[in-house]
Amino acid sequence: MNKGLLFVVTGPSGAGKTTLIKQLLEEHSELHFSVSFTTRPPRKNEVDGKDYCFVDEKTFFQMVQSNDLLEYAEVHGYYYGTSKEYVDSQLSKSNILLDIDVQGALNVKRALPDSAVCFIAPPNYEEMKKRLVNRATESERDLKKRLDDAVDELKKIEHFDYLIVNSEKDRASSELLAVYTAEKLRVNRQYDKIKAYKNINKGGL
Ligand code: 5GP
Repeated sequence: MNKGLLFVVTGPSGAGKTTLIKQLLEEHSELHFSVSFTTRPPRKNEVDGKDYCFVDEKTFFQMVQSNDLLEYAEVHGYYYGTSKEYVDSQLSKSNILLDIDVQGALNVKRALPDSAVCFIAPPNYEEMKKRLVNRATESERDLKKRLDDAVDELKKIEHFDYLIVNSEKDRASSELLAVYTAEKLRVNRQYDKIKAYKNINKGGL
């Protein structure tokens, strides 16, 4: 049986990951988004259980203790983690998309080398800063932390499988779609088809 693809999208805040991911999910209904747990307070318009499962620190660390998280990381002063149960149960029947930070993506790649990790980078520092400021979802202190963290994250690109520079949204979106499609077409993800071809007998004229 084929095993699902764990498709990981990572990159710093302000690189434009969320918009690109939304477009990818709209195009591919077989790709399911893994909703993370976080201790960050919800932003306006964010829905509990859809964007994130919002939990307090006590609950989060109970999950860590019980080994319920595939990976977790402290990101810009809050905790974020991926549900192990969700990934384990869904991966046998569908492809899964993780939108996680660079540290988390490194941990996933180490634990599950068969996953595909795509790094989305901003074209340059100034543009990333502009996008974050325009988004206006962070306090000045949080914004500064995100920018400082981004500088460190951009130094880790070489550990991943793909790099997309998001200078132009439509182009970056097609590139992400292309990467996902190529990963789906890898021979080791199509055992069902290979098996069917092997079972064809000669002499069928
Ligand atoms: P935001 O607060 O802007 O929604 O997300 C901040 C960062 O946390 C983003 O880079 C996002 O990809 C990352 N993130 C979201 N969920 C997870 C998760 O489950 N694990 C890790 N390691 N990072 C996450």
